[in-house]
Amino acid sequence: MKTLKLSNDELQGWLASWQQKHAIYAPQLGTDASKPQFHDWALLDGDEMPQLPTGVVKNSIKRFYLPQPQTMGTFSIDKRQADAFIIKETLPDSAKKQILLGARPCDARAILLKNQILASDPYFQAAREKNIVVGVTCSDQAPTCFCHKTGASPLAFIGMDIALSQTDEGWLAEIITPRGEELAGNGAEASEAKIAELKEKRDAIKQCSPAHGFKEQPMQEMYDAPLWQGLSDRCISCGTCTFLCPTCTCFDIQDETSGNTGRRIRIWDSCMTALFTAHTSGHNPRGTKLSRVRQRFMHKLKYYPDDYGPLYCVGCGRCVRDCPTNIDIREVIEDLQS
Ligand code: SF4
Ligand code: SF4
Repeated sequence: MKTLKLSNDELQGWLASWQQKHAIYAPQLGTDASKPQFHDWALLDGDEMPQLPTGVVKNSIKRFYLPQPQTMGTFSIDKRQADAFIIKETLPDSAKKQILLGARPCDARAILLKNQILASDPYFQAAREKNIVVGVTCSDQAPTCFCHKTGASPLAFIGMDIALSQTDEGWLAEIITPRGEELAGNGAEASEAKIAELKEKRDAIKQCSPAHGFKEQPMQEMYDAPLWQGLSDRCISCGTCTFLCPTCTCFDIQDETSGNTGRRIRIWDSCMTALFTAHTSGHNPRGTKLSRVRQRFMHKLKYYPDDYGPLYCVGCGRCVRDCPTNIDIREVIEDLQS
C-alpha cells in the first residue's frame, strides 16, 4: 500500500481532475433555510470541498448501493404488443464510475457486511463496481459513535479505495486498491515517521466486539430475554432506525405503470413495520410489535453474527441519534450481556 502526503491545495487539485471524469458525491451542509440544517450527501459542484461534521452525516452511503428506488426492469402493458407484461431487466450502468468522497470507516465497512447477504444480487454488485470510495478516517468521534465496540475502528480503511486521514499539515492518502491507484494523482510519498505515527494511532484504539459473546449465548435465552417487552412499549414503529442504518437491507418490490408502460422497482422497506411480513392471506408471522423489535436486534446481534461472524452493526450511531423514543442499541447490547 502506498501512502502519499498531500497539502489541502494538492487534494483540491485531485478533486478538480476527478471532476472532469466522474460525478463526485460528498457530505454538504443543507442550504435551504426553510428546512432543518444537517449534513447529507450531495453532488459536488465546481471547486467545492466536502464538509465533514464530526461523526456521521444524516444518511449513509447505502443510497448509492441500494438506490431509492432501484429500477429493476421495464415492461409494456399494451396488450396489442407481443411483449406485453414481459419484464426487461435494467441493470445499472457500472461503467460510469462515481466517487463517494468522505465516506466514514463505519459506512465503508457496512457495504462489505451487506455484501455477504447481497453477494449474488446483480444490482448491488453493479453498484459496487460503479462506486469508488474515497473515505476519510475519523480523528474525532461523536458521542453517538461506537464503531470500536463493533469490531471496527474510527481509523480503519476497510472497504475504501483511498483512505484520507487529516494531519496538522494536510492529508495522508493511503492508496488501497487498484481502483484507488488509478484514481490517485501526484503527491510525495509520506515519510516513514508519518506512516508510523498513523499506525501507532490505529494500534492504540482498543477494539472490542460483543459478537463472540452473543455467538456463545443460547439463541432461546436471547429470544426470550425480558428486555424486548420494554423496548417494544417504547417503539412507535416509525422505521427511522432501519432507514438510516447503513447495514439494513430489507426491500419491497412493486410494479408501477404510467400510460402504456410500467417499471418494476425495488424500494427500501423496514422490518419494524407490521406490513413488512404481512401475508396476503391476512396472517402475519411477526404480528406483534415485540416480535418486530426483537427481530431487528436479533438480526444485528445474533442471526448475522452466527452466520457470518461480525455484528451486523457498524456502530455509526444513527439509530441512537435519531430514534424519537431514544432506543439505544448500545444499551440493548449491554443488557443482553449482563
Ligand atoms: S427509530 Fe425508534 S421508535 Fe422508530 S422504529 Fe426504530 S426503534 Fe422504533
Ligand atoms: S444499528 Fe444503529 S448504530 Fe448500528 S449500524 Fe445500524 S444505524 Fe448504525
